[in-house]
Amino acid sequence: MTKQALPSLVKEYKILLNGRLEDSSDGERFDRKSPAHDVQVGTYPAATPEDMDSAVEAAKAAFDSGVWSEAPGTDRARALRKVAELIERDLEQLALIETLESGKPITQSRSEMEAVAELWWYAATLSQHAEGSVNTDLGSEYLGLSVREPVGVVGMITPWNFPLLIASQKLPFALAVGCTAVLKPSQLTPGTSLHLGELINEAGLPDGVVNVISGQGKIGARLTAHKKVDMVSFTGSTQVGHAVASSALADFKRVSLELGGKNPMVVMADADFEAAADAAVFGFTFNQGECCNSASRLLIHEDIADAFEQRVVELVGQVPVGDPLDPETKIGAIASEEQLARIEEMVQSGIDSGAALRCGGERLSTDVGRFYNTTVFTGVERDAEIAHEEIFGPVLSTIRFKDLDDALKLTNNSQYGLSAGIWTSDLDAGWAFARKAKVGTVWLNCWMDGFPELSFGGRKHSGIGRELGKHAIEEFTELKTVTARFGQREMWVPNS
Ligand code: NDP
Repeated sequence: MTKQALPSLVKEYKILLNGRLEDSSDGERFDRKSPAHDVQVGTYPAATPEDMDSAVEAAKAAFDSGVWSEAPGTDRARALRKVAELIERDLEQLALIETLESGKPITQSRSEMEAVAELWWYAATLSQHAEGSVNTDLGSEYLGLSVREPVGVVGMITPWNFPLLIASQKLPFALAVGCTAVLKPSQLTPGTSLHLGELINEAGLPDGVVNVISGQGKIGARLTAHKKVDMVSFTGSTQVGHAVASSALADFKRVSLELGGKNPMVVMADADFEAAADAAVFGFTFNQGECCNSASRLLIHEDIADAFEQRVVELVGQVPVGDPLDPETKIGAIASEEQLARIEEMVQSGIDSGAALRCGGERLSTDVGRFYNTTVFTGVERDAEIAHEEIFGPVLSTIRFKDLDDALKLTNNSQYGLSAGIWTSDLDAGWAFARKAKVGTVWLNCWMDGFPELSFGGRKHSGIGRELGKHAIEEFTELKTVTARFGQREMWVPNS
């Protein structure tokens, strides 16, 4: 495969507001430079708080009109399938936008866009399965119905690391059951979401059902606090997640949060050594480690620890880092200067804690762009900051354990509970780990394998709620009980 060229044109995006592609009301825009090439790749409307209000009003009016919320599931399914087709049609374009805005390798962007289309295809099937249930066991004169109804207007705030994938873990699922939505992507990588807005318009979804609003610094909080928003679905930092939850709670809105992680990958002494070592490297370098599911804590059985750490360090040196437009590249650029500063701060914390810096530990020197050398710390103390805090960069902390109980103790001794994995040839040990790990997802002899059919979400400070799978129907619906009585009811008023 040949290296893709940098586009010569800077794409000018529009927001999707009530079925129209528009600029912000005051005409303000903001730009994005490719983190790998330092050239401008997009210009986006900087929506005002009033624009956000208009988007919520549009979503509310669309919801209340019933044009989407009361349409037959088959109609919604057909519309979602159309969007999936258009995503597939524009896959190359979307992948390029993703790589240019985020800095991730183009091959990974392509796979990501394929996964995005799969999410829309799958969610479309749920449109025809949002049914409730019937209870006929309440006595012969009663009929009980549990009816599923869409929650209403869902405000969605998505992060910069997998912008369209994460939007697609929320939006088509909410739409499938009849909700309407306002999507607010991160200001760092809004292009694919705004492009999705164009595709949604082209697919002919009714006006106002989906609104995609870009901006920075003043519209996220406006969305979550808006009285006409019924549910907030947020993916991002635990810190902002707190603010989002408090704001939603003030109005008793439903809230779903997908936050950070410090995910442990456990390697038992009987693991397939090479497969586990490769997965360990993949686990913390995929997407430059800017991944809530990053395997940033590697827990190794003490009997194999020396050899395993050595192998990981050797393999790290063989993973190609560089221009994300080169199809050979596996680790691209760091998304923002702030993120790079955070990585540097945490690496310094690791050095200060006395952990052994086995490789990396500094920026990669390049003519342009923002890259970080893949970094491995071994001998990390269990209470060190780098053993507990999310870094969101290609930085690994390894810790040794003596047996499965010890590995579980390390796994669960965390503020986070997003995911965990274990490599072992003893399936009894694997099963015991899977049942006792206090996380939302466990991987047994694999890492980060995900499917639209399987739910995803965290425990503890990693979040509330579950996305994906058929559980998404519950996430975006309210349950209503309808009780019907047949025949003569016993009178309350005597002798009436
Ligand atoms: P943040 O968690 O800071 O979230 C930023 C987004 O939240 C913006 O869209 C912003 O909108 C909105 N927002 C900010 N304040 C509020 C509020 N009070 N109420 C509602 N919305 C609000 O993400 P960052 O991109 O800044 O990343 C920071 C860190 O988060 C990273 O370093 C990483 O550690 C972590 N992260 C975790 C991710 C995950 O998947 N779990 C993904 C990405 C990042 P506006 O601009 O309008 O204020």
